[in-house]
Amino acid sequence: MRVTWSGGDLTFRLDPEDEITGHASDGHPVKLAINSCSLSDVPDDAHPDLFAVAAWTVVAPWTRRRVTFDRAVSPEVAAALHDGWGIEAGPVGAEPRRAGSTLAISYSGGADSVAAATVYPDAPFVHFQRVPHARVPNRWPHYRSDVLAKLARGTGRDLTIVRSDLEYTLAEPRPGYPEHQAVAAGALLSADRLGLGGLGFGYEMGSRWLGGGRYLLRYTPDNDLWAPHGKWGRLFATVGVHIVLPVGGVSEAVTMRLALGSDLKDSVRWCLRGTDGPCRTCGKCLYKELIQAAIERRPLDTPITADRPVARKWMRPPPYGGQEMIQYGLARVPGIEDTLFATALTYFDVSEESTSWLDHCYPRAIEEIPEPWREQAAAFMAADVGFMTDDEVRRVESWGS
Ligand SMILES: [Zn+2]
Repeated sequence: MRVTWSGGDLTFRLDPEDEITGHASDGHPVKLAINSCSLSDVPDDAHPDLFAVAAWTVVAPWTRRRVTFDRAVSPEVAAALHDGWGIEAGPVGAEPRRAGSTLAISYSGGADSVAAATVYPDAPFVHFQRVPHARVPNRWPHYRSDVLAKLARGTGRDLTIVRSDLEYTLAEPRPGYPEHQAVAAGALLSADRLGLGGLGFGYEMGSRWLGGGRYLLRYTPDNDLWAPHGKWGRLFATVGVHIVLPVGGVSEAVTMRLALGSDLKDSVRWCLRGTDGPCRTCGKCLYKELIQAAIERRPLDTPITADRPVARKWMRPPPYGGQEMIQYGLARVPGIEDTLFATALTYFDVSEESTSWLDHCYPRAIEEIPEPWREQAAAFMAADVGFMTDDEVRRVESWGS
């Protein structure tokens, strides 16, 4: 793989051993559509390691043996690429970047992201805004990235918006991030300008510790995507931008409660369709409605009926993505047995007691936050959430077994 940057324009050329099909780090199959993309409003004099890691978030799935950057990188970045991916990276010959002191939040506007922001009320935001690619048709025009950017502006936080078409580098699934970390490409290139030492993501306990959307359904302390000691965590650390998960120890029930109870509640938007609010008819809206109804202890309020295609997966047996939250909702929503979740309910023996661990914070998630930002997260969780008991910790660590 050969990588070239011109300002914020990235071009990459595959070597003979490279392939246009691959897998993201979460195992999801991906297919390449086009070998160029761009990021707007990023400095062109960022540290070379930042250019290298930003590029790697886009080219990693296609690279088989080596990656050649257009400027020398530090031995530390080359070592992290070798140790994590078995890739030879070069040329080598730069001093590593030193970490700054600022923690920014990679802000999407979703409930998890807003919850992460409430942990650090003074943290600046970096928002990734999808824009169409000049040479790839936009087949997803209902995705209102302009609305999300407007909501981000309305938060009043110090905000950097990076516009990018990098999701159109994928043919399948399209559009989408080649790696989840690609959402941070613009933040990486802006790291010197913002003095970044850490970047906070809204990934919650399910994504970090319970196998996440990958349907693994097992405890994942060594999660390669988000653990500080996983391959991405180590790579980001070498460029002085530590991955921080402020809400990595709490469930989506807690992130939703925090988000809807925060002063950013009017900016929360988890649905990517529609302009005036959540569409209420997509699969994501249905999943979030189950959680919201559970925390508000009210009946399910959805126009979706059991015969709709979006309801189909709830007619089938588990596993379900976000299964811990399904169990939480089934245990708490009044009248759930008379809704489209009635079938799912028959597969689980759940109660408020058996799901109460999802209301508390898993302590190891706080311990792995880098020292400069740990105490604030610990104080927040102690005051606003509460930590798990030993029994509840065992629920996390025996998940799926
Ligand atoms: Zn929706």
